[in-house]
Amino acid sequence: MSLIEAEIMCGIIGVVQERGEVAPFLHQALKRLEYRGYDSVGVTTIANEHLYIKKEKGKIDEVHKKLNLDDLPGSIGIGHTRWATHGIPSMLNSHPHFDCNDEIAVVHNGVIDNFLELRSELSARGHVFNSDTDTEVIPHMIEEYMNEGMDLKAALRRVALRIEGTYAIVVMTTREPDKICAVRDGNPLVIGTQEGVHYISSDIPAFLPMTNNMVLLLDGEIASLSASGVQIEKLSDGSRVQRESIKVSWTADQAQKGGFPHFMLKEIHEQPEAIRNTLRLRRDSIVKATEIIQSADKVYMIAMGTSSHAAMAGRHMFGSLGGVLPICELASDFQDSVYDALSGDDCILAITQSGETTDTIAATKYAKHLGAKVIAVTNVVGSSITQSADHTIITQAGPEIGVAATKTFMVQLTALAQIALTLAESNRKMDRDIILRKREGLARLPEIVSEVITRNEERSRMLAGVFYDKPSFLFLGRGVSVATANEGALKLKEIAYNHAEGYSAGQSKHGPIALVQDGYPVVCVVPRDVTRNRMIGNIMEMKARGASIVSVVEKDDQEVSGLSDHVLEIPAGVESEFSPMPYVVPLQLFSYYVALRKGYDPDKPRNLAKSVTVL
Ligand code: GLU
Repeated sequence: MSLIEAEIMCGIIGVVQERGEVAPFLHQALKRLEYRGYDSVGVTTIANEHLYIKKEKGKIDEVHKKLNLDDLPGSIGIGHTRWATHGIPSMLNSHPHFDCNDEIAVVHNGVIDNFLELRSELSARGHVFNSDTDTEVIPHMIEEYMNEGMDLKAALRRVALRIEGTYAIVVMTTREPDKICAVRDGNPLVIGTQEGVHYISSDIPAFLPMTNNMVLLLDGEIASLSASGVQIEKLSDGSRVQRESIKVSWTADQAQKGGFPHFMLKEIHEQPEAIRNTLRLRRDSIVKATEIIQSADKVYMIAMGTSSHAAMAGRHMFGSLGGVLPICELASDFQDSVYDALSGDDCILAITQSGETTDTIAATKYAKHLGAKVIAVTNVVGSSITQSADHTIITQAGPEIGVAATKTFMVQLTALAQIALTLAESNRKMDRDIILRKREGLARLPEIVSEVITRNEERSRMLAGVFYDKPSFLFLGRGVSVATANEGALKLKEIAYNHAEGYSAGQSKHGPIALVQDGYPVVCVVPRDVTRNRMIGNIMEMKARGASIVSVVEKDDQEVSGLSDHVLEIPAGVESEFSPMPYVVPLQLFSYYVALRKGYDPDKPRNLAKSVTVL
């Protein structure tokens, strides 16, 4: 595992076909992967025994304008959209990277921990390096191994056995101009198959317009692709892996913007459908998760970012409905916090939309190592987390491209709500009628969320116009709504760059209230539940200090509306445990419109990547 404290990932694509030029496809595939990293882009093809190379720092459109990424010859090629870890974004540090003779091209996602040692060995033997990246040791090592007589696959295998770290690596060489080889450990790669064409990529949308047939490549496996076929072998002993292809039900269209100006807005609008699909999860899968939880001594929920807010809300659902109160920890701090408290009798729920969040995977591996059971909740079939989990629940959001999570938050809550209800049914502490009412309440959420969007879209846009230039915001809630407040604040920070803090309203008097003065915006999440009256108290306190109050409140709650300067309205009849699902939606919309009002691209916030695949 890498020790780098940063957020990284990248998008890889490789394609080999019988005839025709691959460059325009590589360019479009990289566009579909751009959410995975966008500080530099590069493509390389092979034709006439030469590598043709275009790479530069910047977003794909900028680089294309300058270099015309469509204009390279050849029916085999690889491409990369980078998220720098080693070396600043620059032309030389952009991938692909090459050997001394420009015969071997490599793209890589991840971090090679022992690259310094490898680089000095290679330099001592005369290799010349052009970049500051860790990646560049790979083509030079392959060059040496091939000079010893190995073919590309054998050389790559040898590299994989020598390097330490996390990686997805895709390579090709003019010496074997009809083949792409790939290997992974810790970072994702999937293979797309089509008659006479094969693809390899960090994510499915890259090749989805061409084929929905995919074959998983797992950690510790090496693949070799040609126009006519794919072979997968185990790295350890070279034994052949026979793996059936899977049909992906996502259409290419789902992975596009579908008429919306941004993925984020499209994905906000897809939430009712995403909940509906996740409510169709197999009952036996939910029951299995419930059984693991019930037989555990202690239950932990671990996650990062938006998923950690899903965990906060999930904890509340489990406590209130299921009589189990999990311990919520950030995955990044898990090992540093649990000490000997974690044992083989415990279970952890690891929540990660991409299934590739390195912190969450590392914490999961740690828990596994101690013998604890792991339930993964993720949106991506075959993702890394699923490989170390005892049981996986796949949420059904479809691909989420906007960097700011919206619909994946919604489906995580939908999955956790179903586990909480199944816990309630099984431990028999709660009246059956109440459980039934809660189930019906959950089933109504697609409709309710749909109404929330219609009712609040224009209003959120209007409020964005009022508040966009406020430098700082407080988001307050109590009970389960602390999760909503935190998520609302996170959305505003991450896409609109306004400082915002999500706080428990109870805690707000203990410090944050000092920030409040005339016109200071305080967003209050006030569902009609047991927290409402105390929230009214908090609103009064904030108003007394001049705060401008925006409340997210039930439609006919005249009292709270009357106390507020602005309201975002939610239909009545939401079960309190599930309130974060509809109540967070106007806050997502608000952040989206603040970002637009400020001229930012909400799909590509600065300094952030969609899934965080380095510790
Ligand atoms: N470590 C490599 C670099 O800095 C790859 C980073 C990535 O995953 O994009 O170039």
